[in-house]
Amino acid sequence: MSDQKTAEKHNAALMEKIVSLCKRRGFIFQSSEIYGGLNGCWDYGPLGTELKRNVKEYWWRKHVQTRDDIVGLDGAILTHREVLKSSGHLGGFSDALVDCRTCKGRFRADNLEGLQCPKKPSCVPGGHGECDLTEPREFNLMFQTRMGASSDENDENAVAYLRPETAQSIFVQFKNVLETSRVKLPFGIAQIGKSFRNEINPRNFTFRSREFEQMEIEFFCKPEDGLRLTDEWLEERLKFYEEIGIPREHLHILDVPDGDRAFYSKKTYDIEYEFPFGIQELEGVAYRTDYDLTVHGKGSGKPIEYYDDETKERFVPHVVEPSAGCDRTILALICEAYDEETVTDEKGKEETRIVMRFHPRIAPIKVGIFPLLKNKPELVAKAREVQAMLSPMMNVFYDESAAIGRRYRRQDEVGTPYGVTIDFDTLGENGDELKDTVTVRERDSMSQQRMKIADLPAFLLTKIH
Ligand code: ATP
Repeated sequence: MSDQKTAEKHNAALMEKIVSLCKRRGFIFQSSEIYGGLNGCWDYGPLGTELKRNVKEYWWRKHVQTRDDIVGLDGAILTHREVLKSSGHLGGFSDALVDCRTCKGRFRADNLEGLQCPKKPSCVPGGHGECDLTEPREFNLMFQTRMGASSDENDENAVAYLRPETAQSIFVQFKNVLETSRVKLPFGIAQIGKSFRNEINPRNFTFRSREFEQMEIEFFCKPEDGLRLTDEWLEERLKFYEEIGIPREHLHILDVPDGDRAFYSKKTYDIEYEFPFGIQELEGVAYRTDYDLTVHGKGSGKPIEYYDDETKERFVPHVVEPSAGCDRTILALICEAYDEETVTDEKGKEETRIVMRFHPRIAPIKVGIFPLLKNKPELVAKAREVQAMLSPMMNVFYDESAAIGRRYRRQDEVGTPYGVTIDFDTLGENGDELKDTVTVRERDSMSQQRMKIADLPAFLLTKIH
């Protein structure tokens, strides 16, 4: 087998293990699974929900709360058709698709080499004698719905859309935000929220979904600052990925060439990650010029402009957009964290340790709390005390069942960075010196240290912030 084929097989097996861990440990489930599943939609389980909240909260803290030049917005998902007409989505937000007359499969035409023929999975669609593909035709990716109880089927005014990106409400609310927030150029408006695209071939687990979450900033500026700010935002966003545990060497920067960029964009970078299924886009950082505010100014008949107090000029601001996919970030974090290693247990037996090496900042559970034995009420009571002390500050998990080694492994598998064990020393049975101290075990090195219970909050808080 060629090296490339071996690597492909290894990566496919790795991806299977990751998907299975996500289900087994409650990170991500297929949506509507008990009814056969809803294609392209996913539900985050208890641990996935915590992970996602941590990523979104860190993004918000870093880019909105700790800066005074970016403010937030939480726009409606249901969107007026005129908004999407002006933005160009109604006319042009489409992918080319082909049908196969033989197997009735429907495929994205620009990506056939990444797909399988349903009848013969070793071939790409169109790749064997029985395939009979139609000519490509455009398919609009927006989900359409109708508003109001008595809407008449033919009434165009009743049509609304689920937003295909969070950005449009930011452009449409530009004036309201400007007038109410007293911000001055350059400034940004940030938004985290759901977007919807009727993808022709959802695939690679959550990577290409039909419902997904975006974390977007529209950073408005003077025209002369656009290119410089695009480079600065690229750097800022690369730092974010490093700070949540994705090292720069696993990220690729694609400087999107002329011709591949949107026609209005003067510069676009794609930030890509080495997923097991290939190097794929995590985020786009695009300099969109004054396109968006201009089209909405024209479309609504109400020009969207900025008045510069100092220069006494009135103009349409330009915009730089770092647009990240939250679910793709989560998937990258899960792929990055997954690790297997061979360890030897107390009895000298070798076993495989599965460990999710999440950065403590985004780990779903920050600390596991374990009384050494569950049938010793004093140990249990002390462990519950530690839990009560830490739980208002961070997500903790109390576990008293099974041998301590098993409990450590269970937390390794979900990426809990620290484990605290309450034992007889904690109760003072071996002298006053060790009383009210616990063992703190570190997930990655498995090293252990003794620490006073009173020192735990400060120790843990510095690691997770
Ligand atoms: P792709 O080329 O992969 O379809 P795109 O270039 O159309 O993506 P953008 O419109 O730039 O994507 O959207 C910004 C970000 O939103 C993407 O970088 C990605 O992280 C996320 N995103 C877009 N489409 C999806 C999807 N179908 N599923 C999950 N995330 C998505």
